[in-house]
Amino acid sequence: MSRVLVTSLQYSKRFASFSSYIPLVQQTWRVRSYCSSYKKSNDFEVKVDKAKLKEKLTPTQYHVTQERGTERAFTGEYYDLKSDGHYHCVVCDAILFKSDEKFDSGCGWPSFYEMAEQGSVKMRPDHSHGMERTESVCAKCGAHLGHLFNDGPMPTGQRYCINSASLKFQGKSKGK
Ligand code: FE
Repeated sequence: MSRVLVTSLQYSKRFASFSSYIPLVQQTWRVRSYCSSYKKSNDFEVKVDKAKLKEKLTPTQYHVTQERGTERAFTGEYYDLKSDGHYHCVVCDAILFKSDEKFDSGCGWPSFYEMAEQGSVKMRPDHSHGMERTESVCAKCGAHLGHLFNDGPMPTGQRYCINSASLKFQGKSKGK
């Protein structure tokens, strides 16, 4: 009896504010769609030569992109950058994010509410470190970028929390 009461109370409470759940449901659905369309790890257009990559990248860039590492908050090159331009993948040079969609989340990592083009970033479930998160990777080469959270600003409500070490910023030249 008590269980029925609690359940119906919870239901009516949720029902009363159902409209507030709609954006959350939409965001969750979108993340699940991304994850279900994620390619297998060896199914990327750009194949990575790990030995050559070690020569090309700094140890931090290699650790973050190839070993799913995370740079310390507020230490990356781009978390506070406000210049106009594009953020490329440090491994394969694909355009991943635009400065127009960057925002100050206060988390200490570059944050974007959208990817540069639909499909330029892929998502996959990440169960590491005892957490349930959504990992984001470069769709072309599979480089680890960071994670996707559902606490970003509108219009998407999403926050791509990205390591500076995964990115290479290219500023817009004046007049473009
Ligand atoms: Fe890439």
